[in-house]
Amino acid sequence: MQQVVYSTASGNKYPIEINWNVISYSDIVYEPQKVMQLCKSGCRNYGKSGGCPPYAPRFEKANRDGRQYVLFIGKFYSKYKTAKVKSCKNRAIHWKFQDVILARFLDKIGRILVFLLEGNFWNTGYCMGCPGKKCSFKFNEPCRNPKKRTFSMEATGINVVETVKLCLGEKFYWYSKTNADIPYMMKAILISTTKTTNEINSIIEEVLNGLEPGLVEHNVYP
Ligand code: SF4
Repeated sequence: MQQVVYSTASGNKYPIEINWNVISYSDIVYEPQKVMQLCKSGCRNYGKSGGCPPYAPRFEKANRDGRQYVLFIGKFYSKYKTAKVKSCKNRAIHWKFQDVILARFLDKIGRILVFLLEGNFWNTGYCMGCPGKKCSFKFNEPCRNPKKRTFSMEATGINVVETVKLCLGEKFYWYSKTNADIPYMMKAILISTTKTTNEINSIIEEVLNGLEPGLVEHNVYP
């Protein structure tokens, strides 16, 4: 695990714990029926985002011989929530605060890595390809920005919880009616590539060490 400091567009800084593993296609737990059912019954983005079911292609279609996959996770510990958020009684505020920061961080990292690793990118959650605008799928219109469109891992049928457990030994936590606080929020992204493991690790380290000024300040949080 490493810690990075993520600077948001408004200049606020948050420590994010990160980790990754280079895995193969057979390491990915692919359970489309089960995952689609969970998306349909438990997620309000179902049918409302171009990155989510039923619009996302199944993951099996993306498999290509000779590819490796980078499974990359980010954790935002709840102790780093601002004092204002911590004092808020509305659980949705706690969830949304961590969710937005973590999702934006991983979206940015993923878009840089997919360019450098020359592969495909499966994001976390709903598509964030149109910052500041509602997804056109909410209005039953086609994607206005196809080159920026991303599909989430789960939207393609990947069991993210089991894949992360198997490949990185990590556990997810969620806010719920019975769970008012969680130790951290975690999210995952996946990138395919034909690069070697050494090349992949070196590219990731370079990105984390600040090749993109303003994204990640430095790679060790004091
Ligand atoms: S790129 Fe924009 S319109 Fe297209 S799916 Fe993503 S958010 Fe929706």
